[in-house]
Amino acid sequence: MLLSPKKAIIALMAFVYITSPLFLEHITGDHPENRQRLEVINREVEKLIPRSKWIEPRAATTKEISAIHTPKHIELIRSSCEAGAAYLDLDTPISPKSYLSAVKAVGAGCTAVEMLQNGEAEKAFCAVRPPGHHAESDRAMGFCLFNNIAVSAKHAQRLGAKRVAIVDFDVHHGNGTQHSFESDPTILFASFHHWGIYPGTGSADEKGLGEGEGATINYPLAGMTGDAEYLSIMEESLLPKLKSFKPDILLISAGFDTHESDPLGGMGLTDNGFREMTKMLKHFADNHCEGKLVSFLEGGYNLQTLGATVAVHIKELIG
Ligand SMILES: [Zn+2]
Repeated sequence: MLLSPKKAIIALMAFVYITSPLFLEHITGDHPENRQRLEVINREVEKLIPRSKWIEPRAATTKEISAIHTPKHIELIRSSCEAGAAYLDLDTPISPKSYLSAVKAVGAGCTAVEMLQNGEAEKAFCAVRPPGHHAESDRAMGFCLFNNIAVSAKHAQRLGAKRVAIVDFDVHHGNGTQHSFESDPTILFASFHHWGIYPGTGSADEKGLGEGEGATINYPLAGMTGDAEYLSIMEESLLPKLKSFKPDILLISAGFDTHESDPLGGMGLTDNGFREMTKMLKHFADNHCEGKLVSFLEGGYNLQTLGATVAVHIKELIG
């Protein structure tokens, strides 16, 4: 049956869930960032979107990853995985297929921005492992090998987005993303994080460097900060800044370790807080970015609650 033009437009502008079985092959044993995280998320998402509709991403190319990472870093990850190394640093485990998983995790973000820029989709959630926001240009850190969201922001710019905004609500500061763009006035990075925990960066006076001054925004918050404070900072401070920045696309580092039940986070967000934050960011993208929004899975380590919280986030993105 042929779709009417109006229905065809609606079908094209859908939400897409991007993930791959390869993300389960990044084997980390009983480390908090383990494959079960994605399994519990997939189980909940399956209730919202049938598996047959999930998008298998392409792998990123070395050239694409090189937009953020040094050739030496890319080669170190590849050769360490191939050699069967177990850890890249004290808290970043790897396994033989971790390099392929990491390359595909970056590719998921590239696939998402391509679908948005081509008008094939309007919003996407990239359910990826390993996560990315701690990865620096030349260093794996904090469970992250390559910086998925940073490479995707550069890819979005290659595809025509002039200005990109990244909002990071993972409980940890997105140091790698900040450092990738702190001198770049065309990519805004805003982070909400638990002040004083890993990795220790992200004070309020880190506002960007040189031409990039003002395009880095940090909201360091005390432990157990809850829904009301997150939402009021977002509404009163972040949204006005996003409006004046005028991004063409909004990217989210969605860390669910900000949830009140998370064993690593120490913050007080509830599922309702995630719902309202997502609603605000979606509303902003709908009104200021032609609806274009890509959310990336970062942290979130309570296997009992993670799936349901991610589902709350995705339900809001679907709208
Ligand atoms: Zn985190």
